[in-house]
Amino acid sequence: MKKRKDTVLTHAGNHPDANHGVVNPPVYHASTIVFPTVKEFEERGHNPYEGVQYGRTGTPTTMAFEEAITAMHKGFKTVAYPSGLAAIAGALLSVLKSGDEVLMVDSVYAPSRKQVCDDVLARLGVDTRYYDPLVGGGISEILGANTRAVFLESPGSLTFEMQDVPAIAEVCRDKNIVSIIDNTWSSPYLYQPLVQGVDIVVEAATKYVVGHSDAMLGTATVAKENLYRRIKSTANSLGYSAAPDDCYLGTRGLRTLSVRLQRHQENAMKVATWLREQPQIERVLYPALPEDPGHAIWARDHSGASGLFGVVLQRAPEGAVAAMLDDLELFGIGASWGGYESLAIPTHPGPLRTATTWPYEGPTIRLHIGLEDPDDLIADLQAGLDRFSNAP
Ligand SMILES: *Cc1c(COP(=O)(O)O)cnc(C)c1O
Repeated sequence: MKKRKDTVLTHAGNHPDANHGVVNPPVYHASTIVFPTVKEFEERGHNPYEGVQYGRTGTPTTMAFEEAITAMHKGFKTVAYPSGLAAIAGALLSVLKSGDEVLMVDSVYAPSRKQVCDDVLARLGVDTRYYDPLVGGGISEILGANTRAVFLESPGSLTFEMQDVPAIAEVCRDKNIVSIIDNTWSSPYLYQPLVQGVDIVVEAATKYVVGHSDAMLGTATVAKENLYRRIKSTANSLGYSAAPDDCYLGTRGLRTLSVRLQRHQENAMKVATWLREQPQIERVLYPALPEDPGHAIWARDHSGASGLFGVVLQRAPEGAVAAMLDDLELFGIGASWGGYESLAIPTHPGPLRTATTWPYEGPTIRLHIGLEDPDDLIADLQAGLDRFSNAP
């Protein structure tokens, strides 16, 4: 039977028959796996690509989670990682070697840039060149002789530019360059980049998949078997092992992902639509808004929006943003997002950029709109904007 997205999300990875009828795949904790004979130990105990052979390469709890993510992306296989950043580093290290170059989008998640590319990859002799998120098919003109991978993130972290993913993926495919996308904002529910020709999709399942701000988890899903062998063997060589309790929470989170995202979007649209009319606001950075420059691409490729967006404020005295955010009642000040609760942080996109210039002079913040009543969130933000305006 052809299963639609919500049906896959509800059932993928569940195997009650293999677990005494238990609906949710149970938490299997294991290091040692024992085999009945030397023959089986020799045959199955050393194959990290399939089945259970040692705790580090995954237990049935890991595999249930990986199976569900793979099904959502219509991919070949998924590898679970102990965090989203581990998935990003793991995917890049799987396809790059000394002397290679990676093209990295200028609006990428800051730790991918500062820690993975500018630190780890640089020390290994892999060059990173940053490119304009709006390059689209023009990526073909900036490929170098040693470019082996192109990394995308759409919308971009903090600034929310939409990339023309299929156009870039097509160029990569033609030139035999691996395309990798960070799809955390969308989660596997709102966007399936492998279907549009991307080779590897990485996600911080820490965010919407887990959904409750209480576990670290990452995934990399690939379209083809040869790439699966590379990401799986690299994850294994680096000793990456996603914890079974966290994989359990990831699978459990998936079951409610669509209803949570629907409400996140509804609330975020209400708050964003109100915010953009306020005099203290220069721009709201949210591709779901019809006037957003990325709206057409977002509407073409995505089935919805999540609850995370940026806000550019009018220029203000130093201390105005802190005055606004410090006393918000419902918004926590903290990293990460994708849980049920609202968050607000100041952001500083300008200094991160090297390929493009951030055009706004006013301060920027990022809001995660949670599942609270949106009118309460608006009232909280209204009081915050009043403090922003009145800051000395
Ligand atoms: C949070 C985040 C990550 C990293 O995920 P962790 O699980 O926190 O390591 C990667 N990419 C994006 C876009 C993120 O927001």
